Amino acid sequence: MSSKVVIVGAGFAGASTAFHLSREISEGIVVLEKEAVPGRHASGRNAGMMRQLAEDEAITRSTASSARVMHEPPSDLPCRPMDSRGSLLLASSSSSTSALVEIAAQEGVSTERLTAQEALERVPLLEGSPFQEALWTQTDGVIDIHDLLLSYLRAARERSVQVATARGVMGVEVRAGRVRAVRTPEGRLECDVLVNAAGAWAAEVGRLAGSEAPLVPHRRHLFLATRTLTVDPAWPFVWHLDRGWYFRPESGGLLLSACDQEPYPPGEPEVAPGAHELLAEKVEQDLPGLDEASLQKSWACLRTLSPDGRFVIGWDEKVEGLFWVAGLGGHGVSASWAVGQLASRLILEGPRASESAFDPARFSRAFCGDHRPAEGAP
Ligand SMILES: Cc1cc2nc3c(=O)[nH]c(=O)nc-3n(C[C@H](O)[C@H](O)[C@H](O)COP(=O)(O)OP(=O)(O)OC[C@H]3O[C@@H](n4cnc5c(N)ncnc54)[C@H](O)[C@@H]3O)c2cc1C
Repeated sequence: MSSKVVIVGAGFAGASTAFHLSREISEGIVVLEKEAVPGRHASGRNAGMMRQLAEDEAITRSTASSARVMHEPPSDLPCRPMDSRGSLLLASSSSSTSALVEIAAQEGVSTERLTAQEALERVPLLEGSPFQEALWTQTDGVIDIHDLLLSYLRAARERSVQVATARGVMGVEVRAGRVRAVRTPEGRLECDVLVNAAGAWAAEVGRLAGSEAPLVPHRRHLFLATRTLTVDPAWPFVWHLDRGWYFRPESGGLLLSACDQEPYPPGEPEVAPGAHELLAEKVEQDLPGLDEASLQKSWACLRTLSPDGRFVIGWDEKVEGLFWVAGLGGHGVSASWAVGQLASRLILEGPRASESAFDPARFSRAFCGDHRPAEGAP
């Protein structure tokens, strides 16, 4: 393939796609990132958890295959192996975990049901917490997100991919139904393939090329609790599936989220006035061992969701040369390896290649009936 591929966005979607493409083709790949540094948005501000089990089997397939690689990264991706501290998924009853157990068996993710007592022995902070079921996944853990993101980009650069920061795409030239070039403040750049990996801006970048995808950014908050806490840094991450909160050890304290989500325009979201109260309420009810006064630093960032919660990876139906790698929701870190690998394969196979689970064309085919609520993960 001698054509020029322009990738818009240097978050996990764009960086992993560039990395995988550069394994196959040695030149003609350019990544354009509007910010001065990669990772300014979702990819650099998230919880960094590798949670393999999602409510969706296609997503779990992607996270599970990525986890296998992240435990022992290949020699051309010199990043730290993930920290395999495991995860505890809590539930009020077995009905919340049984679908996950089935998907785990189907996708080869080894899980174990623990009694409440066994879960408490692993994380004593759960004393007094309302759960009946606990699912243990030893191969889950935590990823150093900055190290991984920069490793994808560094490895791609070493294989001649150009990564240009502070270079936002402002326009897309389409003639006779085909992408021809992108416009940036520094000028025009011709391309045969335009990869839309613009995260929360993906719908906007699609519109610049004359296409639409139902992708909506949703704000979620994270908090750091560092005061008056006794935390064992080796604890797994803990997620209550029914009550909607999670935490994991971080910087001597805890990183927590109340799993809030609300539609929010692309950009850098502000912290909502009620975000602290929402988490404080959940902490008061569910984690009596944690003093809500210890909740200190907070920030928000955006998870971009499709209507069925699945990724959007594939060729655009309408505009030739436009390729989507977007809608990674709450799984963009966990699934990054598989996402980039799939995108690269489909790009190299050419416009007729499709992958049914994540195919963007499903939205034009779908009537309202096939849509599930977009819950997403982290
Ligand atoms: C609170 C929170 C916690 C999360 N925790 C986890 C977790 O524990 N595990 C997990 O797997 N996932 C997690 N996620 C999800 C994960 O962060 C995202 O799925 C992932 O980062 C999305 O990557 P992306 O590359 O699609 O988007 P982004 O990281 O947003 O990257 C898109 C890039 O495109 C650039 N861009 C946009 N428009 C243009 C343009 N016109 N020209 C040039 N560049 C442009 C942007 O500047 C941005 O850098 C979490 C998300 C949130 C919000």
